[in-house]
Amino acid sequence: MKYCDLHLHSHYSGGDLSCEELVDRAAERNITAIALADHNTIYGVAEMIVAGKKKGVEIVPAVEIYTEYKGKGLHLLGYNFDLDHLKLNQVLDNLQAQHVDNVKKAFAKLKEYGFSIDYKSIQSLPTKYISVAAIIDVLCGPPENYKIVQKDCGKPDPDLFEIINKYFAKRSLSPIIHSSLLTPDAIKLVKEAGGVAILAHPGHRLTWEEDTIILELKEEGLVGIEAISSYHNWHQVEHYQYFAKKHGLVITGGSDFHSETRSRGNIINSMQDYMHIPYAIYENFKNIL
Ligand SMILES: [Zn+2]
Ligand SMILES: [Zn+2]
Repeated sequence: MKYCDLHLHSHYSGGDLSCEELVDRAAERNITAIALADHNTIYGVAEMIVAGKKKGVEIVPAVEIYTEYKGKGLHLLGYNFDLDHLKLNQVLDNLQAQHVDNVKKAFAKLKEYGFSIDYKSIQSLPTKYISVAAIIDVLCGPPENYKIVQKDCGKPDPDLFEIINKYFAKRSLSPIIHSSLLTPDAIKLVKEAGGVAILAHPGHRLTWEEDTIILELKEEGLVGIEAISSYHNWHQVEHYQYFAKKHGLVITGGSDFHSETRSRGNIINSMQDYMHIPYAIYENFKNIL
């Protein structure tokens, strides 16, 4: 069996692995077509293509853009666009600059609160779009900081999501609100750059009653939905495949792999262990790329 995985994150946007490591991992698992869909950055794509050529893994250029539509935070995937497209690069650079400002403000608040934390530590990481996971690594690094985190979370070993909720969620101490585009603008941008726009893991942010939103976005140029996602339970996978077919939307699939589980010794250690996406999903998608 051959597989594909059209939604991966590298260390450039909150993942743990480099582009080369992601390609190696895919090759080992017989995943022969992959897409690096880093958040708001295409920095790693060229590197991924070089690594893919070495290992015989097909690489589809991609990006996952934070967007907003009618008060919903939606993630928009763009595929197979021109990597050098000027406007696309400018818009992503702008989003990054806004994000850096937000992160700096959050660091100032954390410092004021009593953490010993310095923005320079983030700058020394490979990340191109600073993820909350990277901020947490920097925050929890110094033992004196981790003591405060343990105390605030009320347990000796708080997990990533507990720490996010405590410090970085909306209405918390130092919220990190990702800079985003309006979804129709992001769809238009991907199209202008010669690419194809797909709604990532729709079931993560939308209820089935909100399927009309997907149809509205189709009117704006959305071509498909990521029906096969590790964010979806089986009923959602079934529902979104049916929905896509009914409305002439293409179906894509991705693990949204960021990293291995932090607790060791599990049988399932990553989203890629959890799900396997048949190559046929990519073959079908390829017809419209
Ligand atoms: Zn996403
Ligand atoms: Zn993602």
